Amino acid sequence: MTMPALHVWRDPQPQEVAPRLRDFLDALPGPTHIQLSGRDGSRCRVAVTLLHGNEPSGLSAVHALLRQGIEPAVDIHLFIVNVQAARARPLFSHRMLPGERDLNRCFRAPFTDDSQGRLAHTLLSCWQALAPEALIDIHNTSGAGPSFGVVTAIESAHESLVSLFTHRVVMTDLVLGSVMDLNGRFCPVVTIECGGARSDESDHTALIGLTQYVSLERVLDLAPENDVIMDYFHHPLRLELVTGAAVDYGHEVLLVRGVTLSPDLEQLNFNAVAAGTRLGVVTGELAEVLQATTSEGDNRLLHFFCLEDDYLVTRVRMKFFMVTNNPEIARTDCLLYFVPA
Ligand SMILES: [Zn+2]
Repeated sequence: MTMPALHVWRDPQPQEVAPRLRDFLDALPGPTHIQLSGRDGSRCRVAVTLLHGNEPSGLSAVHALLRQGIEPAVDIHLFIVNVQAARARPLFSHRMLPGERDLNRCFRAPFTDDSQGRLAHTLLSCWQALAPEALIDIHNTSGAGPSFGVVTAIESAHESLVSLFTHRVVMTDLVLGSVMDLNGRFCPVVTIECGGARSDESDHTALIGLTQYVSLERVLDLAPENDVIMDYFHHPLRLELVTGAAVDYGHEVLLVRGVTLSPDLEQLNFNAVAAGTRLGVVTGELAEVLQATTSEGDNRLLHFFCLEDDYLVTRVRMKFFMVTNNPEIARTDCLLYFVPA
């Protein structure tokens, strides 16, 4: 397997960085590793962003930081990954290029011998060699909604890293082949979901968090002194389509086996959803359309959802997040995550 090279850009000066975000992106030759020298060169931190080309808040934060010419506390390594997908027109609309796999499902051995598998392998080797004190991966959610962090372990270091960006924490043990699965292999790893893409608030969340991550002397043991109470969501389940089932959003009910979801479903993000809430209409048997499998492989769908006159209805009070209204993401990833409230 030949490993792709990352483009390295060392200590870019503010005047070398295009003032407009799109010009900055266009000037990147491909997956890029930006190195910033810090006051304490004995330590380093890694931040990864744009694994998904339609999630630009992390990129916009990197761009703003470079334009400001910030002096990092420690050496900083910024990885801007899926440049090609991001700049495919229309700009920032492709999670990945057509025909490619989701890069954030490729971080597990054995690495597949395709361009995504090789890139994931290269990134992982590079991060391990850097031996950072922390790694954060910055995303946007595909639907509208507030920011949150995702962790696979609840330790003070993870809470501290998430608290740079947001006070909501989702704790999961679902292994998907994402960057977050690397947690504990060589350093604490957290994922930051800044909220929906193309939202000024999400861009602001990313910038505030990344600025602190880069400039604070310590980021792993921040005392919860500013009275920030972290809001935890434990072990969410994914509501997924059964293979071959269709999904659509709107008021025209599908004629084939599948689910037609309410077009404003994403408004349920992080809100309590009462038992008996109608989410859409199912064509066919519920269990042949949807599934909700735990990390142990149990399908818990019918514990949480049922059909009433073909309407998909919640059986218990829950909280939803990562609700998408994008049928492509619903098909290839999942419809939403949920936890019992
Ligand atoms: Zn993402």
